[in-house]
Amino acid sequence: MIYLLEDESGIRNFVIYALNNSGFEAEGFETPSAFDKAMAKQLPDLVLLDIMLPEEDGLSILRRLRSSSATRKLPVIMLSAKGTEFDKVTGLDSGADDYISKPFGTMELISRVRALLRRSGADETAAEVISLGGISILPQQHEVTADGTPVALTHKEYDLLLLLVKNKGRVFSRDELLQKVWGYDFSGESRTVDVHIRTLRAKLGDSGDLIMTVRGVGYKAGEPV
Ligand code: CA
Repeated sequence: MIYLLEDESGIRNFVIYALNNSGFEAEGFETPSAFDKAMAKQLPDLVLLDIMLPEEDGLSILRRLRSSSATRKLPVIMLSAKGTEFDKVTGLDSGADDYISKPFGTMELISRVRALLRRSGADETAAEVISLGGISILPQQHEVTADGTPVALTHKEYDLLLLLVKNKGRVFSRDELLQKVWGYDFSGESRTVDVHIRTLRAKLGDSGDLIMTVRGVGYKAGEPV
């Protein structure tokens, strides 16, 4: 069970939906008091905690969690807006296990949640390798190799590649990719996807051909025929 404390209903629905879709049980709370009530009944395996909240801010809630023996080691990921909030979480020793800066996409959210659950021992999924042709992705290590050579990817390139390779053969439109990788309130253009696909292909070298353009639709991963 994952708890989410986030006052913006749009983000709350997006996160709960994404978690449920990936097989996680999750419950969202709008206010710290509703969250506290649920915590008193049942402790979750992980908490996603927004910072700017009504009643009490997220950093103060985090301090409370860390000062109680029952929740001292509870895995917590902070959700923070870019800018001053973000600096506050990253710059200070806030006691959070991880943080995600808003806006974020489904892929980043799920991979951070999985990584933290794994570190905390709550996720027992076996080590897996996702591969296509010469491309191998080790999601648990967040590593990619192409024809045996390690490839350094940005977060978005990695998420894009993982999504396409995991769903090889399936065609994704640019809008779908934007939603899944860039997130719920990305306001850029679909050209962003093209730019990232281009650098991704270049970094993959010969294996770049496995990321294919489907004319008039979008992109897919697969073996060229
Ligand atoms: Ca908020």
